[in-house]
Amino acid sequence: MNGQLSNRVAIVTGGSRGIGYAIAEAYLRAGARIAICARDEIRLSEAAGRLSRLGEVLAVPCDVSDLERVVRMVEETIDRFGRIDVLVNNAGIGMTYGRVGEIDSKQWAYVIAVNLIGTFNCCHAVIPLMMKQGGGKIINLKGYGADFPSPRVTAYGASKAAIVAFSRSLAREYKRSGITVNTLSPGVVKTDLLLNREATEEGRTYLERFNPLIDLLAVPVERPATLAVKMASSETDGITGKGFRATSRTAFLLRAVRFGMGRLWRG
Ligand code: NAP
Repeated sequence: MNGQLSNRVAIVTGGSRGIGYAIAEAYLRAGARIAICARDEIRLSEAAGRLSRLGEVLAVPCDVSDLERVVRMVEETIDRFGRIDVLVNNAGIGMTYGRVGEIDSKQWAYVIAVNLIGTFNCCHAVIPLMMKQGGGKIINLKGYGADFPSPRVTAYGASKAAIVAFSRSLAREYKRSGITVNTLSPGVVKTDLLLNREATEEGRTYLERFNPLIDLLAVPVERPATLAVKMASSETDGITGKGFRATSRTAFLLRAVRFGMGRLWRG
């Protein structure tokens, strides 16, 4: 990976932990300079401290659902590094598992505000700079709900489906400007998002049925991080409006078969 991203500057939102942290780490190893943001200032500065052993890191506390904060984060990145070549819209939150009639409507709206409007906010603030530079790469994190129904996590699913539609439209809007927009499906990764889930009583029963699936499908966090490096590198120049997957459907089926055989074997 070394040198694949040298001279590039990237913003990774939600870079303080989970997949975003792994992407930030992989970008630094590949030679990029990076800005990361998150809401929790302490965790963010601890993450930046660890990451700065690998290269130049700017940490900006910011809630991506707040456009003013996002604009300030982008300005700080330009002040420090002079340009932005890659934007990874990774910041995302899950929600309390539960049916629409039983969950908190404010939380539902905040999930949309972070996952979808946060992605819009960052694109809105960065695209004029990328236009001036003659191009750039935008990578939007896809997720559960984009391809399949997402019962008990309707805000999350709706936000991810909308991110796919938004990304395709954005790719078309800026096709001739050198700005590419693609989505990244990380696969199932055991991060806080997946491990620390809250649920209504009914939602908990639903959730418990899915826990064995997480173990079955989980991939190491390095998998999406490596793909994110490729997507930010010249290897993918000119590709826009596409979806990149960190795990293949065939691998999923093979694991499902192995899981079923294991259960049969154990009786
Ligand atoms: P995670 O471990 O919970 O990490 C989320 C990161 O985003 C943290 O750094 C968090 O820091 C930050 N964040 C959350 N809300 C934010 C906000 N409003 N503004 C700025 N930063 C914010 O989650 P993850 O699993 O790594 O997920 C990363 C992305 O991958 C998400 O978009 C998720 O939907 C997607 N994804 C994950 C999986 C999976 O299996 N894990 C599967 C498909 C897609 P603070 O809390 O301090 O803000």
